[in-house]
Amino acid sequence: MIETPYYLIDKAKLLRNMEKIAYVRERSGAKALLALKCFATWCVFDFMREYMDGTTSSSLNEVRLGHERFGKETHAYSVAYADYEIDEVISHADKIIFNSISQLERFADKSAGIVRGLRLNPMVSSSSFDLADPARPFSRLGEWDVTKIEKVMDRISGFMIHNNCENADFALFDRMLGDIEEKFGELLSRAQWVSLGGGIHFTGDDYPLDLFADRLKAFAEKYGVQVYLEPGEASITRSTTLETTVLDTLFNGKNLAIVDASIEAHMLDLLIYRETAKVTPNEGPHSYMICGKSCLAGDIFGEFNFPAELKTGDRVSIQDAAGYTMVKKNWFNGVKMPAIAVKEVDGTVHVAREFSYQDYEQSLS
Ligand SMILES: *Cc1c(COP(=O)(O)O)cnc(C)c1O
Repeated sequence: MIETPYYLIDKAKLLRNMEKIAYVRERSGAKALLALKCFATWCVFDFMREYMDGTTSSSLNEVRLGHERFGKETHAYSVAYADYEIDEVISHADKIIFNSISQLERFADKSAGIVRGLRLNPMVSSSSFDLADPARPFSRLGEWDVTKIEKVMDRISGFMIHNNCENADFALFDRMLGDIEEKFGELLSRAQWVSLGGGIHFTGDDYPLDLFADRLKAFAEKYGVQVYLEPGEASITRSTTLETTVLDTLFNGKNLAIVDASIEAHMLDLLIYRETAKVTPNEGPHSYMICGKSCLAGDIFGEFNFPAELKTGDRVSIQDAAGYTMVKKNWFNGVKMPAIAVKEVDGTVHVAREFSYQDYEQSLS
């Protein structure tokens, strides 16, 4: 028995996503790069590498991790590079994608020996949540002025466009790609490669994979480009749980159960985006509010139904805990950091990493 709390990555579930990614690559000719900002748990990279073409990054640390731990193709991108990191970034990358023309110009000499691209902002997006909308008003994410971009075409060979966000609607993806073609078609036909970014929920149930792959293929043929996808969430969705144990139960108008983890420290995005966690099957006559153990009043995973009364020592598994969780976990309240465990395809479970007091202490000074 592994002591809770721990994240449990289930390779058999991860495999379902990997096989869909491999199918889309095969049918469309697009390449798929894991977006490390979503998931950087490198103990499963050996497994994922078989199904993907490499990684993409948003910082020096990520591009280095991608290069050293994943290998294959390594794309470098960052909202802005500092002078002190650019050389090292380039040493780890196959391609560098600049966020702005001014960054491209600033590092023109240093990056002359590597494939270069520019991020485009099509000013349309699938996100209704302002915080996560790359095309929000006054966005700093990418260039949009075709006249200005044309002037630097001699320095770049491709583009990155990331404007989808958890988009499970193929028709919307298709329509937005049409907008992009209308806006940037001239530029695209002069490029050799185009990355369409992440945020496309194509590994979800019932996504029309064939239509998606065929759309990518038609796009690639029309402009004569190598298409890249940068799946983050889509790569690891529904592969992982956060395993917790009930430490105490209380009643304060509702039944409350406190578990040995924290939404603020271990699944922060739920709090930021005001979503509730998932517990399955969420059935039965006993309803509980599952609460985290930090002192934040709103450290609450959500309200769920259980077949029996919860008591101290019971296990609660929080579903879908891979994306934007382990990369964001923090030491708030000094809460015990969940270990990282892996369930192999044959069902055996092993702990890949545990965190100690020393890790907490060393994260500060
Ligand atoms: C966040 C991001 C991704 C991954 O997004 P998901 O929604 O996790 O698929 C890919 N590319 C870029 C440029 C990103 O900013």
